[in-house]
Amino acid sequence: MLLRRQMEIVAAVREAGVVGAGGAGFPSHVKLEAEAEYVLANGAECEPLLHKDAELTEAHADQVLRGMELSMQATGADKAIFGIKAKRTRTVAILKEATGGKDIKVQLLDDYYPAGDEFVLVHECTGRLIPPGGIPLQVGTVVHNSETLYNIAEAAEGRPVTRKILTVAGEVATPMSMAVPVGITLREVIAIAGGPSIRDYSVFVGGLMMGKLTDDLNQPVTKTTGGLIVLPTSHRLVQRILTPTKAMHRIGKSACDQCSYCTEFCPRYLLGYDVQPHKVMRTLGFSASGKQNWSKWADLCCACGLCTLYACPEDLFPREACNQAIADRKDANLERWLGPTTEVKAHPMADGRHAPLKSLMQKLGVTSYNVPAPWHDNSYEARRVTLPLSQHVGVPSKAVVQVGDKVKAGQLVAEIPEGKLAARIHSSIEGTVTTVNSAVTIEKL
Ligand code: SF4
Ligand code: SF4
Repeated sequence: MLLRRQMEIVAAVREAGVVGAGGAGFPSHVKLEAEAEYVLANGAECEPLLHKDAELTEAHADQVLRGMELSMQATGADKAIFGIKAKRTRTVAILKEATGGKDIKVQLLDDYYPAGDEFVLVHECTGRLIPPGGIPLQVGTVVHNSETLYNIAEAAEGRPVTRKILTVAGEVATPMSMAVPVGITLREVIAIAGGPSIRDYSVFVGGLMMGKLTDDLNQPVTKTTGGLIVLPTSHRLVQRILTPTKAMHRIGKSACDQCSYCTEFCPRYLLGYDVQPHKVMRTLGFSASGKQNWSKWADLCCACGLCTLYACPEDLFPREACNQAIADRKDANLERWLGPTTEVKAHPMADGRHAPLKSLMQKLGVTSYNVPAPWHDNSYEARRVTLPLSQHVGVPSKAVVQVGDKVKAGQLVAEIPEGKLAARIHSSIEGTVTTVNSAVTIEKL
């Protein structure tokens, strides 16, 4: 009976095309096929200025918690913990009321970055440490972002993923959190928030710490787009990210004084993983071939950006050095360094070295943009959507529609290729298919 229920939930989530909505994009049905002891809701939302998970949870707490219960049923987990920052007092109050009588614990987290990192969250909520280079399941845990849980509950009621929840913050007329049709352009999203409030602006997609800067506002919102932050092009963060990689490494080579703050504040290092960006920085000065042999301390880096954007007193780019080192080591076919032992033990100073979000925002120069971005119900009527066939971890999905086909909102347009890791894709509007290539375009003609 239990197995049948598990299969039904997994099938519904697979049908609906649910993927990790926090940015990872891992197909959720695969996670739900596993057996676990814990289901964790990741509501930590530690990227500065992004609030969409808290806003969604306030607006639809019952559905988010339903997603947790379904995940428990599917994985056989008997413990469920909702990780959320204590500062979200309104959301916490709503959650506590909604969890009344349910077997779900609300775990309050301090306001630091990156509290939402899976390794950090699992440790905070269960006291367990994921083995180096491993996944939460290895310590009996399945982690879903709050929006993913909402989508799981929707899937169980037969509704596929056709909308994306995101926050628009920074230099826009009305910062807000909202659900928009998957496939509309970033330009349309900014327009829904009242448009940019300045003339020369740049847009971060997915966050200031781990997101990307883009100048292509015609790119579509996908199932993993976490939010947009509009900043003046002259902003220090924009200018810093525009530094050419070669220049980042050249400056690092001459200016790094090996103070090792980048390592001492690294959240993964503090959990006990052998990530040591200051040692990776040393290799910038190596000119002989084989320097990748000495860059192994980058291998367990999660690219959180804390070293580059917060810890380094010289404003250098240790994260970018780690990115380069990881790529070089891959090219050289070197085995991933997992550290001297699989017995990870958190640093004795781990709790005292958290990067408070308030200090991080000050350092980033975005404190003035830290304003509420409340939930806005909107009924935006998209005329055209572009649905990339690859908006998840795995291989691209396979289009099952052709140019000229008429489709309804919610209709399947791309299927998981037989035996592969991927996620189904559904139309977010009613219209006619006008293009099929690496994306399916649908227009209201
Ligand atoms: S914090 Fe900056 S200066 Fe210090 S070791 Fe790291 S990269 Fe070098
Ligand atoms: S980006 Fe820097 S701080 Fe973050 S995990 Fe990598 S080395 Fe550590």
